[in-house]
Amino acid sequence: MTGPIIPDREPTPLWMRYAACRGVDPNMFFPTPTHQGPGGMPPAVFEPAKRICAECPAIKACRNYALADPSLDGIWGGTTENERRRIRRRQARATPKASKTEKWCPTCAHLRPLDEFNLNRARPDGLHGECAVCGRERAERQRAERQRRTA
Ligand code: SF4
Ligand SMILES: [Zn+2]
Repeated sequence: MTGPIIPDREPTPLWMRYAACRGVDPNMFFPTPTHQGPGGMPPAVFEPAKRICAECPAIKACRNYALADPSLDGIWGGTTENERRRIRRRQARATPKASKTEKWCPTCAHLRPLDEFNLNRARPDGLHGECAVCGRERAERQRAERQRRTA
């Protein structure tokens, strides 16, 4: 990882020392929305970064790190944000059913108390599929995206 893209957390995980992307232009791993077309960023935008990840000794640790933190965007461990979202959903589906007091959020892949899910009468369990935290983050992202488009 290059300096500016390491999230502000302590201590810095050991695997970051072995990151193949150290010193590489962060823009490669965090393409800006100017690359974005109507259907999201074209896969080719991510290819140069993914090629570096494919040779990186820290790829597994890096991917797990990003899977555990849904707020991270860009390429981590050879995956895009959308790819990680899909992996989290798959992992949540493969996990045994939660108890009556908790349920899995497929977006952040955390087991959360039921009161951290908004009500939704249309669903069989009466609760939203994803937790309220993820719901708020999604709404904020959508609001920012709308603002960006109308700017
Ligand atoms: S897997 Fe990719 S993003 Fe992660 S440390 Fe290695 S090169 Fe960097
Ligand atoms: Zn969540």
